[in-house]
Amino acid sequence: MTHLTTLAELKRHITLLASAEETGAPVVSAYLNLENGETGWREALDERAHILRRVLKGDDRADFEEVLAKIEDWLTTELLTDAKGAAIFVRGRFGGAFMLPMQFAAPLPNWIALYPTPNIYHLVELKDIYHRYVILLAMPDWASILEVNLGAATTRAWIDRSELRTRVGSEWTRSHYQVHQAHRGDRFVHEKIALLEQLMHAGGQTHLILAGDPEIAARVRDALPDDLLDKLVDVVPAGERDRQADVVMATLSSFIEHEKRESHSIVESLVQGLRSQNLAVAGTADTLDALRWGEVDMLVMDSDYHPDPGWLCTACQALGIEVPETPVCPQCGESAVRSMNVREALLRLAGQLERPVEVVEQSDALMSLGGVGCLLRYGPDFRNNDRPRSSL
Ligand SMILES: [Zn+2]
Repeated sequence: MTHLTTLAELKRHITLLASAEETGAPVVSAYLNLENGETGWREALDERAHILRRVLKGDDRADFEEVLAKIEDWLTTELLTDAKGAAIFVRGRFGGAFMLPMQFAAPLPNWIALYPTPNIYHLVELKDIYHRYVILLAMPDWASILEVNLGAATTRAWIDRSELRTRVGSEWTRSHYQVHQAHRGDRFVHEKIALLEQLMHAGGQTHLILAGDPEIAARVRDALPDDLLDKLVDVVPAGERDRQADVVMATLSSFIEHEKRESHSIVESLVQGLRSQNLAVAGTADTLDALRWGEVDMLVMDSDYHPDPGWLCTACQALGIEVPETPVCPQCGESAVRSMNVREALLRLAGQLERPVEVVEQSDALMSLGGVGCLLRYGPDFRNNDRPRSSL
């Protein structure tokens, strides 16, 4: 059944797409914004298809028409009403048919490309910005716990004060839930926290936002145990009459702001790592090297990072950042060098290693270091002397 892609699925899909090998036939990566309905995505698709058709010939052109028909077919039949962004990766029959469509409650830009491998930047950015978190929405007489996963909210539990009744979503550890009877003084608050703690623990949740009646939310906040306080991102006021969708949107903006601040503090760690402990590298060449060595903890990339093209040998897989003057590979001597999108190459390596990628929105500090860098697993002292030489 069609559904909105979850964070867990997106992680798997990023690894899968990052590992997709090139076959000689291009992959169409189509990101579409769905906020303006069918007219919006059709216009974006038609406009881009018109340009791409002009550069394709023979089998590639026939393949492209087949791929385009598949994309349109999926969009007209499978889209959900609450989807705001779609990402579809397709390769036609001539290159070994392949299709991976996804839809999200979070918006995506209109961006369509043909490239030997899937272009995953916008997926990585979406995963980093929207991620997931839990909301405890608390009102004087009721409370609910929601999970927001890549922008899509699902109610996980509902607590009604007047009936002293608690309903827990069937997917979330019903059997583990027990009401704590001990706290008679503020039982309603403690009951909410006990449930929240169990649900967050069971789901491996790392971020929490409190929302609702300011007085109740403040009482809940004061009573939070340390482990939940560490996960608290913000307290967002909401009234009894606010629509749930509006409350979720308010928490989402707060979460995105938090994510931005977090990404800037990661840039600070990167700078620290470069300065004092050699626990980081920066700049395209060193980042590419570190990723190829698999010694990376996290890839950190500015949203404005647009490096010059590099090169890749399709015969021996050697790659580098300075495009050679002839198509002859400096490593194997085959005439098999093609131009390479360096940003995508870095994201592919991080995806294959299943390492997190932090996308930083416009950081002058990061741009002055070349726009990209890595936090490393070990300092350079741990590096082996007999590591093979890089082809850069
Ligand atoms: Zn080669």
